[in-house]
Amino acid sequence: MDSSTKTAPAKCRACHRPMGSPLFCDHCHSLYPSEGLNHFELFGFPPAFDIDPAALRQKYLQLSRGVHPDHHAASPESTDSLRLSAQLNEAHRVLLDPVLRAEYLLELFGGPAASADKGTLEGVLATALQLREDVCDAQATGDRPALDRCAARVRQLHEELLAGIGELARQLPGDPQVRRRLRATLNSIKYYQKLLGEL
Ligand SMILES: [Zn+2]
Repeated sequence: MDSSTKTAPAKCRACHRPMGSPLFCDHCHSLYPSEGLNHFELFGFPPAFDIDPAALRQKYLQLSRGVHPDHHAASPESTDSLRLSAQLNEAHRVLLDPVLRAEYLLELFGGPAASADKGTLEGVLATALQLREDVCDAQATGDRPALDRCAARVRQLHEELLAGIGELARQLPGDPQVRRRLRATLNSIKYYQKLLGEL
């Protein structure tokens, strides 16, 4: 990959006016390759866990308008436009969700992938199994109050892990121990996410 595609041209190569975004020129609507830009770079954010949702939304709308196929229809750039739109949508989806954002940051900082490290926090598997059983029992007997108690417990455990994920992700790049702990917490929260989806 050409390393020059990683940095935004300060000035548009087509109309030579200053560029407000690494992806497109506001003036002549020229598009620029985004290959090699990670999700944070795409939005012009530092690679950090804390993101202002309003700023993310605003930037997403601004960039989406800039690369919109309407500006580039029936031009050689329309394929680029569709690809950039898809990439923006994916980046927005990931950065908006705290769990996906932490996953992405961990990967960005060289932490272990879920496929390479399947470790979970101590006790999570047993707790999730027990809760699944309790939920099944409550559903089978139509015990609404018991089901509500299970749901509240799952939500609470989910919240606790989410808080842990934030705490660890804010320490990235951190040391290997922090990255392993974050990996294990991300692996663990999936069990509660699954339970929540079934409730
Ligand atoms: Zn231009």
